[in-house]
Amino acid sequence: MNMAMNVIGVRTNKRLEIVDITDRVVEEVKESDIQNGIAVIYSLHTTTAVVLNEGESRLLEDLETMLERLIPRGAGYRHDVIDSNADAHLRATLLGNSVVIPVSDGAPVLGTWQRVLFVELDGPRNRRVNVTVVGE
Ligand code: ZN
Repeated sequence: MNMAMNVIGVRTNKRLEIVDITDRVVEEVKESDIQNGIAVIYSLHTTTAVVLNEGESRLLEDLETMLERLIPRGAGYRHDVIDSNADAHLRATLLGNSVVIPVSDGAPVLGTWQRVLFVELDGPRNRRVNVTVVGE
């Protein structure tokens, strides 16, 4: 069994922004030289998320609207006393911090519409996403 670990840098430009990082994940898996196994895509932050879904632009707007409706900003959260971003932390817990993707023949196994989406919840910032590929 082998393992390859690397960090992808993601520069975000808005407070709430969804960035399609699929191509960079494909590149990391390719460079790992691992043919069969799994890839873990793991954000190193507490106010971001990583999800697998369709990258269609209107759907991404719907996702942002859903987050704003479910967890409005500044709705009396206790953490806002510290740094006014409780909504971002809470949205992050809802979406999840990582995804696991099977790797076959040196590439991530993705369905036709599946994309790896990095979700910025408290940008703009420079973010880091760990990509770990395990297999042989
Ligand atoms: Zn905070």
